[in-house]
Amino acid sequence: MVATIAEREKELLDRVPTGLLIGGEWREATGGATFDVEDPATGRTLLSIADAGPEDGKAALDAAAAAQEGWARTAPRERGEILRRAFDAVTARADEFALLMTLEMGKPLAEAKGEVTYGAEFLRWFSEEAVRAFGRYSSSPEGKLRVLTVKKPVGPCLLITPWNFPLAMATRKIAPAIAAGCTMVLKPAALTPLTSQLFAQVLIEAGLPAGVLNVVPTTSAGKVTGPLIKDARLRKISFTGSTPVGRRLLADASETVLRTSMELGGNAPFLVFEDADVDAAVEGAMAAKMRNMGEACTAANRFLVHRDVAERFSTAFAEKMKALTLGRGTEESTTTGPLIDAKSRDKVHELVTAAVESGATPLVGGAPAEGEGYFYQPTVLADVPAGNRILQEEIFGPVAPITVFDDEDEAVRLANATEYGLAAYVFTKDLNRGLRIGERLEVGLLGLNAGVISNASAPFGGVKQSGMGREGGTEGLSEYLSTQYVGIADPWADQA
Ligand code: NAP
Repeated sequence: MVATIAEREKELLDRVPTGLLIGGEWREATGGATFDVEDPATGRTLLSIADAGPEDGKAALDAAAAAQEGWARTAPRERGEILRRAFDAVTARADEFALLMTLEMGKPLAEAKGEVTYGAEFLRWFSEEAVRAFGRYSSSPEGKLRVLTVKKPVGPCLLITPWNFPLAMATRKIAPAIAAGCTMVLKPAALTPLTSQLFAQVLIEAGLPAGVLNVVPTTSAGKVTGPLIKDARLRKISFTGSTPVGRRLLADASETVLRTSMELGGNAPFLVFEDADVDAAVEGAMAAKMRNMGEACTAANRFLVHRDVAERFSTAFAEKMKALTLGRGTEESTTTGPLIDAKSRDKVHELVTAAVESGATPLVGGAPAEGEGYFYQPTVLADVPAGNRILQEEIFGPVAPITVFDDEDEAVRLANATEYGLAAYVFTKDLNRGLRIGERLEVGLLGLNAGVISNASAPFGGVKQSGMGREGGTEGLSEYLSTQYVGIADPWADQA
């Protein structure tokens, strides 16, 4: 008998671990506290899971600290093979992970499958990088010492992830930490913890020893993580989330001079020059704006378009946005899911309303969608005045504000007029111009005639208030390694 969609969803939810993972055991939170995880397309509860308190957080760090020494001594190949088995398992169970992400986060199933491919690739990439943490042996310039450098795991890490990419944000941190030989406490976002729970189970099945990964979902983020950040046994915090929370964590981390990686907010400019292939730019704009309903740190947040092509670009972009279909991500016809919660939807509308009041013209959309769930209409705003609030804050929704520019200098000035520095996109057929603009843009990631550039093999991260550190690429492993220098007396000294 073929299961109905509702039965398939229930069967999957029934298999998600609902406890805290501490020292290799799934256990209840102290006092039995739980919280509900809801479906943003309907507002209905999907599952209740354990709600960690400060004592549980401490128990998780106890387990991570106890496991650290033995784990650091395992062979790199052994750690790599655990990651490789996890990659195979996540890939084999791609439909399950995709459905779970769609249920708790709202993105359409096709996009969720894309995230499984992207997120799993960190497991494969770091399974290969695990054996490449090389040091060096060389002579000091005057020949009196030999310089030996050794790469060592930094030690127990606190990993804090956001809700927008429930699998990929976890694998982007966990995979390099495993490869490097670090133990971990993971605190997933309270809005989307279920994917992390299922993924942790996959890692255990792949052979990850008890205590290496501990998972503490909680609705009291600060109360659980605050004491851990002060604890001398913790050696690193890796955070992905908003800039305001990142600033607070950095302040806390300064007390113990904790090593930090911060993947924070963005305000990506999307530049279209007069010589661009406008059709390609519109395709790129759709991808850079609408992936994840605009709820991505790399989402194009400001469209800066040369006056000569502004009308053509805006009209074609608005047509495409109008053709999108809102709906629950599980429906095949859905191209655009709901926003994560009512607060996010209301903030998006507040920004749109303020922009329209100051003179912007909605070409399409401009309001929340009616009915259940937290849907917002795909929106294009033309003639948005420079300096408007919508150009300064992360929109984190399906809204594209367009501003016109007249020359390269003005484009660069407008693009850099933000405290953020994560991603930018440039569309031009002139390669020299693209590279020249790239050199002038204050960002960590640049899409040149490309609207989606995240890739496990590339270093991902920002400058300015978008953070510090890099995830993915060869750089991603070094975030979890420290370098020890061993100075060796000249082995020729007694041969004189
Ligand atoms: P957020 O509110 O900053 O939360 C991120 C994580 O931090 C969540 O797990 C959250 O827990 C936790 N948190 C909140 N307050 C905390 C505190 N005082 N102490 C310790 N942890 C705390 O961000 P979000 O709304 O989940 O995610 C969206 C943001 O993430 C956007 O700004 C986006 O640009 C950014 N982001 C950046 C990247 C990147 O790579 N640069 C990637 C994805 C997202 P709760 O869930 O319990 O609140």
